[in-house]
Amino acid sequence: MNVDLAVLGAGPAGLAAAWRAASQGHSVAVLERADAVGGMAASFTVDGVRVDHGSHRLHPSIDRRILGDLHELLGDDLQRRQRNGRLRVAGRWVGFPLRPAELARSLPPGMIAKVARDAAGAPLRRDGNPSHYAAALRAGLGPTLYEALYGPYAVKLWGLPGEQIDPEQARRRVTADTPVKIAKRMLRVRRGTGQGRVFYYPRRGFGQIVEALADAAVAAGASLRCDTEVTGIDTGDDRVELTTAGGERVSAGQLFSTIPLPILGRITTPAPDEAALESTARLEFRSMVLVYLTHGGARPWTRFDAHYLPQPGTPITRISEPANYRDSSRDPHDRTVLCAEIPCDAGDSLWSSSDEELAELVSEAVTGCDLPPLRTAGVHVRRLRHVYPIYRTGYRDHLAGVDAWADTLPRVTTFGRLGLFAHDNTHHALAMAYDAVAALRGHAARGDSFDTESWHAARRRFANHVVED
Ligand SMILES: Cc1cc2nc3c(=O)[nH]c(=O)nc-3n(C[C@H](O)[C@H](O)[C@H](O)COP(=O)(O)OP(=O)(O)OC[C@H]3O[C@@H](n4cnc5c(N)ncnc54)[C@H](O)[C@@H]3O)c2cc1C
Repeated sequence: MNVDLAVLGAGPAGLAAAWRAASQGHSVAVLERADAVGGMAASFTVDGVRVDHGSHRLHPSIDRRILGDLHELLGDDLQRRQRNGRLRVAGRWVGFPLRPAELARSLPPGMIAKVARDAAGAPLRRDGNPSHYAAALRAGLGPTLYEALYGPYAVKLWGLPGEQIDPEQARRRVTADTPVKIAKRMLRVRRGTGQGRVFYYPRRGFGQIVEALADAAVAAGASLRCDTEVTGIDTGDDRVELTTAGGERVSAGQLFSTIPLPILGRITTPAPDEAALESTARLEFRSMVLVYLTHGGARPWTRFDAHYLPQPGTPITRISEPANYRDSSRDPHDRTVLCAEIPCDAGDSLWSSSDEELAELVSEAVTGCDLPPLRTAGVHVRRLRHVYPIYRTGYRDHLAGVDAWADTLPRVTTFGRLGLFAHDNTHHALAMAYDAVAALRGHAARGDSFDTESWHAARRRFANHVVED
C-alpha cells in the first residue's frame, strides 16, 4: 500500500486525524491493532447493554469547532446531560460534583471544621515549588482533604504514594487545587451554569463518537484496517516504511503515530540512541482491569451515573452504570450493566485474577459502601495494558529524552494520549488531531513538508491541557 499519510491507531486521535486529512484530499491508511475501532474511547455490548471502557464523558470544555463537527456527525444522538455522581468520603456518600449545602449536611462536623481550618491556613502553606504531588496538594487543599481523598486515590490510580509522584500530576489532574478554586467551582455548579455540571454523551455509548469518526473517515476515502498491528517503522530517506505483524508493507509520505511512545521507540529504525532507549524503558504505564457485572434486577440499579471510591480497602476506583449516562429506548429495563474500574500493573495479582475473583471484589465493595444489593447475572472482564502514564518523580527527564528523539524522526509525528504520554481526555486527543492535520501542508507524498513550526506551537498549547474528571 502506498499512501500520503499512514495513521497508527484508530482511537479518537487517529480517527479524527484520518477523517480531517482524507477530507482535504490526502490518501490515508489507518492501521489498528485491535479488532475494532475506538481505542480506550470505544464502546461494546455486554448482555444487550452498550458499555464503555470505564466512565467516559465528553467534557463541555471541548473546542467549539470540534463540538460543532461532532454535532454534525452525530445529530440528536449527542445528548447534553447533567452530571450525577457520588463520592465516598469519611464513610458517607456526597454528591459529585460537590455542592456546599450537601457537603455541610453529609460530612461529619469534625471533618468540616478541619477542612475549614485548612482553608483558612492556605495562604500560610503556599509552596511555589512543591517537590511532589503530595506537597502540592497538601499546600493547596490542606492535609485533611489530601489524606481523606487525594492521597489514597493516588495510590490506587497510579500505584504510588503522593510523595513519589511528580507535582506536574497535580497541575494536570486536579483542576480545583485550592479552597478558593473549590469554592468557585461549587458556586458555578450551584448556579447550574457551570462546566463541571454538564457533559455530552451519545445515545449509543461513548464509542458512538469514534464510530462516527471512523465512518466519516472511510466516507472521505480513508482506508481503515483493524487487526493490523504495526511492528516495524523504517524512517528512510523520503518515505516511511511500515511492517505489520501479518507481514504486509505500507509506504507513506508521512506518519501520524498515536501508539504508546515507548512502543514507537522500540519498533522504529533508526532506533533511539542508548540514553533515549534507557529513557524509553523508564516511561511506565498503569494498566486497568474493567469488570462488567450484569445486574439482573430492574434498571436503574441506582439513579447515579458513577460512584467514586477513593478510600483504601478496595482497589476499585469507580463503579459506573453506563445506561444512566444517556437517554436511550434501546437500553433494556429488566437488567443493567455496571462497570468497575480497577487500576493495576499488568501481570500483578489483580491483573491475573479470575472473573469470579474480580466479581467477588466488586460485590465486597458494593456491600462495604452501602450500595444496593447486586443480583449478579453475568461477568465480563476486559484488561487494558496502557491506561495511565505514571508521572513518577524524575519522569520528566525521561520523557524529554524520548520526545527529543521522536522529534528528530523525519516525517513522523506522535500525538494522542499515549503518543505524548499525557493524561489527556478525548477532547484533547481530538484537538491534537486537528492541529496535526492543520500542520500537514499539501500532499506529503509530493514532497510538501509538514509545518513543524506550527506543530511545535501546538505542542506548547497541549502542555496546558488539564484533565477533567
Ligand atoms: C477509565 C478511563 C476513563 C476515561 N474517562 C474519560 C472521560 O470521562 N472523558 C474523556 O474525554 N476521556 C476519558 N478517558 C480518556 C480517553 O479514553 C482517551 O483520552 C482517548 O481514548 C485517547 O485517544 P487516543 O486516540 O489518543 O488513544 P487510544 O484511544 O488509546 O488509541 C490508541 C490506539 O492505538 C492502537 N495501537 C496501539 N499499538 C498499536 C500498534 N502497534 N499498531 C496499531 N495500532 C496500535 C490501540 O489499539 C488503540 O486503539 C478515559 C480513559 C480511561 C482509561
